[in-house]
Amino acid sequence: MRLAFCLACLCVVGQAKAAGLVFNENFTILAAKSQPALTSGFSERLLAAAERYRREIAQEWFAQELADGVGKTTISLTVSHRVDKAFTWARSGARNYHVVYLTTSPQQAVGSTLKHEIAHVVLATQFPGNARLPIWLEEGIASRYDDAERIRLRKQITQSFGHARPWPQVTQLFATENVPSVDQTTYAFAVSLTDYLLTLDNRKTLLRFGAMCSQSTPDQALATHYQMQPHELQLRWQHWVHQVEKVAQLPQ
Ligand SMILES: [Zn+2]
Repeated sequence: MRLAFCLACLCVVGQAKAAGLVFNENFTILAAKSQPALTSGFSERLLAAAERYRREIAQEWFAQELADGVGKTTISLTVSHRVDKAFTWARSGARNYHVVYLTTSPQQAVGSTLKHEIAHVVLATQFPGNARLPIWLEEGIASRYDDAERIRLRKQITQSFGHARPWPQVTQLFATENVPSVDQTTYAFAVSLTDYLLTLDNRKTLLRFGAMCSQSTPDQALATHYQMQPHELQLRWQHWVHQVEKVAQLPQ
């Protein structure tokens, strides 16, 4: 009986190793070693990168690390050199447990694509259930960790608002429940509005505003934390975008 049990255990451990499964108290990494381009020890590198980003992002936004074991996350990697996409399924409530799906290159899987998703993990862990930040604000924060090319593209889109593209509307963004990954216009708007709010007050205020958006209404949250109505935010943000654009056009 005992022998059979031990053999079964060895078998499970063997399968887990072959599947590239490594874990600690915060993350479980699923990266099948049979995938091409994955060097030996890659899962351990991915685990270390996820840990580092979890620590850095929590320090940056909450001035302290998350406790170990809170917001446990499984990261599933499918290697692709043609696709760079990711998705975080954040589940909160009594059991705070998340899943990150990465389809990307090994380089991005330990780089900016991973960091963007870990930002979702950290924010969803700190603001679980009813306090979850609005999706546009989570994207606005997470996208700050994106690669330079995505950031450049979004700046270009933002500069086209009011010219080649109509101004997107704050009230529509506040009502958004989903931001498709291909919708770069909404990403650009979310990032720009997040940046603008951070020029008005600090990160703590931004996060309190976000949590109140979910628990109350965005209008009330805006009035409480920024003392303005959505239409005022709309006009002030547009004015700020124009100013930033003018400064960018000045000779360096
Ligand atoms: Zn995202």
